[in-house]
Amino acid sequence: MAIPIPNRHLFIDGEWKQPILKKRIPIINPSTEHKIGDIPAATAEDVELAVAAARRALLRNKGKDWSSASGFLRARYLRAIAAKVTERKSELAKLESMDCGKPLDEASWDMDDVAGCFEYYADLAEGLDAKQKAPISLPMDTFKSHVLKEPIGVVALITPWNYPLLMAVWKVAPALAAGCTAILKPSELASVTCLELGQICREVGLPPGVFNILTGLGPEAGAPLASHPHVDKVAFTGSSMTGSKIMTAAAQVVKPVSLELGGKSPIVVFEDVDLDKAAEWTAFGCFWTNGQICSATSRLILHESIAGEFLNRLVKWIKNIKISDPLEEGCRLGPVVSAGQYEKILKFISIAKSEGATILTGGSRPKHLERGFFVEPTVITDITTSMQIWREEVFGPVLCVKTFRTEEEAIELANDSKYGLAAAVISNDLERCDRMTKAFQAGIVWVNCSQPCFTQAPWGGTKRSGFGRELGEWGLDNYLSVKQVTQYISDEPW
Ligand code: NAD
Repeated sequence: MAIPIPNRHLFIDGEWKQPILKKRIPIINPSTEHKIGDIPAATAEDVELAVAAARRALLRNKGKDWSSASGFLRARYLRAIAAKVTERKSELAKLESMDCGKPLDEASWDMDDVAGCFEYYADLAEGLDAKQKAPISLPMDTFKSHVLKEPIGVVALITPWNYPLLMAVWKVAPALAAGCTAILKPSELASVTCLELGQICREVGLPPGVFNILTGLGPEAGAPLASHPHVDKVAFTGSSMTGSKIMTAAAQVVKPVSLELGGKSPIVVFEDVDLDKAAEWTAFGCFWTNGQICSATSRLILHESIAGEFLNRLVKWIKNIKISDPLEEGCRLGPVVSAGQYEKILKFISIAKSEGATILTGGSRPKHLERGFFVEPTVITDITTSMQIWREEVFGPVLCVKTFRTEEEAIELANDSKYGLAAAVISNDLERCDRMTKAFQAGIVWVNCSQPCFTQAPWGGTKRSGFGRELGEWGLDNYLSVKQVTQYISDEPW
């Protein structure tokens, strides 16, 4: 059952504050197309307030500020936040489902991951204290050196709508663990659970200004944040086009950025596989979260000797996917996030048809659903590598298929992309998998699976999928600056 959407303002300096221009953006439930609430729309004026609050929290009361608090103290807050997320899990999952169309089960698993991510970085925050002042071995004994890892400062965290709270927390948790103070700018298409994180931070007594939330439009709230001279770093997840704008803005004031961008990832299926298992991973890899995953393996590169039988089983598997309102029991595929996204996906399919591709299954709105932004899981064959559907990220439930004969051909097809986020290989020959793993131009490789993601393991891409790594200890390093300290220790004059 649907629940009311909390009415929130911007979260600045530990308080709910109305946007200075009093603008709000409607929230549309993608399953019903009804307005279910609204979110505040920040502008450059609110950015000024949030940046000032974050700077005060970073540097206030020398010695008692967030940046020089012990890792143990910061970890206490992170664990308290994790506990509150767990306590409110079912409510947060419902809000997430209603806001972005994600099946309720998936949204609940996301909330487990959100709590797990805060706990993981709480552990790393504690470990940080012990790792300080690690000595560096030098080639002469008249000097000694060590390294201090310090918080980068005030960080802007700009995030997308596909995993609204989880993508935000992949940044918020390590940033706060590192001792940075943060301003989150979630996607205007799905901000509800991110605003609830503000409420949770209030409830656990996180010091004011340590974490701030500015909801609103990208050009109005995100752009002034990215270019602000008192923001020390921008961590961004979103499309490659916006990533490029953020990089340009950051370059004007020479600040570091980390970018998690789009993808068009391949899954290569060899002839020696168990067809049912491989079909399941292929379907899961492309249609999980409606294909609205940066790492979705949306290009199937299939050995030609098994193509006919494999595709039969794949289509059979797809036909069993339950497509419904995301709050309905057993839903596996909800609507895509917005009318804009719905139209964009159908346009991709229609262009593919006009370019000569064949729609093997899907391709339109499911017949049993009259309202909502629903798109059938779609498989497209007869593709050439120059087609738009092969080259561009659809960010929807659309799988392109091409066949291959040799391993070399499979590698060439897999790497035939401007993106380099993820790649998967399915084969019983592990030596072959090893060769493929090395040959893939991608930041993440899955062997005999697709999409598993663990908080402990690094996440990020190559080529136009961006740079920098989130999660694991790499995620913490994103928010730390390395200071070299060298001391002259000899009694002899230099
Ligand atoms: P988007 O680029 O449209 O928006 C992302 C965020 O940037 C939003 O908060 C938006 O408001 C903001 N924004 C837009 N214009 C801006 C500007 N000029 N300055 C500053 N901020 C601005 O992306 P989206 O549609 O929200 O998300 C989908 C994209 O995200 C896909 O390309 C997907 O592959 C990518 N993604 C990547 C990963 C990853 O880990 N690599 C994860 C999830 C999503």
